[in-house]
Amino acid sequence: MITCIGFDADDTLWQNETFFRLTEARFIDLLGGDPGLTDRLHEAEKRNLGHYGFGVKGFMLSMIETAIEATEGQVGAPVIAEIMAMGREMLRHPIHLLPGAEEVVRALAQDHRVIVITKGDLLDQERKLAQSGLGDLFHGVEIVSDKTPETYARAFARHGAGAETAMMVGNSLKSDVIPALQAGAWGVHVPHALTWAYEHAEPPLAAPRFRVINSLLDLPNLVNGLFTYNR
Ligand SMILES: [Mg+2]
Repeated sequence: MITCIGFDADDTLWQNETFFRLTEARFIDLLGGDPGLTDRLHEAEKRNLGHYGFGVKGFMLSMIETAIEATEGQVGAPVIAEIMAMGREMLRHPIHLLPGAEEVVRALAQDHRVIVITKGDLLDQERKLAQSGLGDLFHGVEIVSDKTPETYARAFARHGAGAETAMMVGNSLKSDVIPALQAGAWGVHVPHALTWAYEHAEPPLAAPRFRVINSLLDLPNLVNGLFTYNR
């Protein structure tokens, strides 16, 4: 039986990666259009995760670092200013909910404790949750620096009856599904067409509590089906 359901936020409840891709394309244009910059930027992001964490601010700093490196220190202040403006634009971007986000969370909140577990910049994640209009539907919100099995064990103990009776739902196998399964919870993958290369992982097909759905709209049936089966 499921007592607590955790939802990832970015690209599970609302669009996110698409805005990173658009900004990345603008960044490459700004620096003259060399497509090799994409890999350099991704390398910088990966290298900097341990210092800046996940989110827009780290992405901005990685763009600036890549611009300095790619121009061998010649990049001008107006270009740096433009990169910072692009980042601020991302931090102000309106929320685009994904199909079913509101209905599904509302429906499941009637019989379960529903929580958000998200990583990213604290202020930005709080802003997005507030602007999404979904904030009041959740029993709890965890904005974390990374998603590990311990993160899920702690969150599900705090908000529910522990990972054994919990489910995590998200678009990232690496961050949402696999560590939740390792903590003993159910792990439900809702693939999104755009997923950051960093979040790639092989599907844990042998895990008995692993499930895949095409859309959040399929989640209530999945949850109710597990309940029927288990009783
Ligand atoms: Mg996500």
